[in-house]
Amino acid sequence: MQCELCGKESHDCRLAIIDGVKMMVCPKCLSYGKEVPRTTLSPAKHVAKKKLFAEDIYKKMDKELVPDWNQRIKNARMKKNLTREQLGALVGERTVTIAKIENGDLRPSDETIKKLEKILGITLLEEVKGVAVKKSGGSKSGGLTLGDLLGEKLDK
Ligand SMILES: [Zn+2]
Repeated sequence: MQCELCGKESHDCRLAIIDGVKMMVCPKCLSYGKEVPRTTLSPAKHVAKKKLFAEDIYKKMDKELVPDWNQRIKNARMKKNLTREQLGALVGERTVTIAKIENGDLRPSDETIKKLEKILGITLLEEVKGVAVKKSGGSKSGGLTLGDLLGEKLDK
């Protein structure tokens, strides 16, 4: 194997980061940079992370918190005669966190949202419908009007 930095043949080339660039270098050139630990070399880990990120984005685009989510939580809690403390205990959040959520200061985590929906019997996430459907004809300039959308629905 050839050292990518000095070009010398070496049987003991290692992956290192030199000036921010990953390269295979001989032990001598290794001192110019930092050796990359073998644990970070695993490509499987990298792929898994990427996939998770993509799924996260997909989720965010698919469902959206309703605009009045904090009001819905507060109203539903009071309807059920629950204190913030009691609700907090039910969803596994602190009382102060529930207060922040109800004030709209804190966006609850996806996990908490699901719990709140279940315990309070409310809907906090709405499906985001893709309205940006382009007609294949494309004779009209500009976007679709409400009439276009209704017409399309009626056609079916
Ligand atoms: Zn070298």
